[in-house]
Amino acid sequence: MPGIYVHIPFCRHKCTYCDFTSYPDKIDYAEAYMACLYKELKMRGEELKNYEFDTVYFGGGTPSYIPPKLILGAMNQIRACFKLKKDAEVTLELNPGTIGESKVKTYLAAGINRFSIGLQTAIDEQLADLGRIHNARDYVYATKLLEGQNFSTDIMLGLKNQTKEDIKKTIDLAHACGSKHISMYALTVEDGTPIYTDYLNGELPDSDEVAEMYEYGRALLEEKGYKRYEVSNFAIPGFESKHNLNYWKRGEYVGVGVSASSFIAGVRLTNTFDLDEYMKCIISGFYPAVTSERVELKDAKFEFVMLALRTSAGLSMNEYKETFGNALAEDFPNALKKTVKYLELDGDRLKIKDEYLYVQNSILVNFLEEEGE
Ligand code: SF4
Repeated sequence: MPGIYVHIPFCRHKCTYCDFTSYPDKIDYAEAYMACLYKELKMRGEELKNYEFDTVYFGGGTPSYIPPKLILGAMNQIRACFKLKKDAEVTLELNPGTIGESKVKTYLAAGINRFSIGLQTAIDEQLADLGRIHNARDYVYATKLLEGQNFSTDIMLGLKNQTKEDIKKTIDLAHACGSKHISMYALTVEDGTPIYTDYLNGELPDSDEVAEMYEYGRALLEEKGYKRYEVSNFAIPGFESKHNLNYWKRGEYVGVGVSASSFIAGVRLTNTFDLDEYMKCIISGFYPAVTSERVELKDAKFEFVMLALRTSAGLSMNEYKETFGNALAEDFPNALKKTVKYLELDGDRLKIKDEYLYVQNSILVNFLEEEGE
């Protein structure tokens, strides 16, 4: 079920934790950038004529910050250049501080049928600390505009001064506003971002505290009917993100725009992270990819294991054998021995036991070590 990813790198303001390719001061480039992106879509579409795509995802950056007609234009171009399934899932990331009635109308006309809203927290002081441009009221307004639509909400754990009560308020708000899907991520602190200073000053919760918050949030979400289907993703059954499920199944995808990556026919391509270079390449008729590598068999095996074990459905042993020719136990005998107490076998599926899913990295490291041997 291949997907199309479209990167929109513009934001109104840079958040204090942000390490994504996003520019807070370049909105004037939006029209020219999107013209280049349409051209890249055409180039990629010609190459992938035989593919039929199931999902489209507009991520960023803040896709809802640019004029909505540019999103409509991108969707028209996608339909003209690619075979897109009739019932394709089409998601747009949306920042609650950038939305209005007419924008929503244009998105719906463009065929967007799923929205991903970055709430992060319902506590305004914490939003201000993160450098977010919205407050909790903006989120409520955005969800009112999206009434009856399928939308997901992103929330964050591990914020300065965050308490369990704050997490409860955040989850309660997303649930009350009709979110069908909730992504609950721990804040990752990257060196070089402003929030790194808070981390160095010991002002952020430590990993044990975050693990406790996660467990608290998980229980609350499940109580409200959101079923965990990946370590950070919870959905009312039937509302799981098809686009992300494809990533975790190691499915193929094509990414367009600055910094976007693609994975097609075993080759991973990554576009330049530089906006000017991206536009220059496209205008000159060149592909903007700066790296292109065929994934080696041993890396492909580890990726397969790592991605599948992040999900609640786990890894299909038959699928592994069909894909790689060997049984999992032949390729990773030592890792399986070392991690046996954290795993369970359910028919054909090997899973990390529910209570250990959050600490999957420390389990997966055993597979990574064996892959390197
Ligand atoms: S809205 Fe998202 S992409 Fe933009 S600066 Fe904030 S975290 Fe980064």
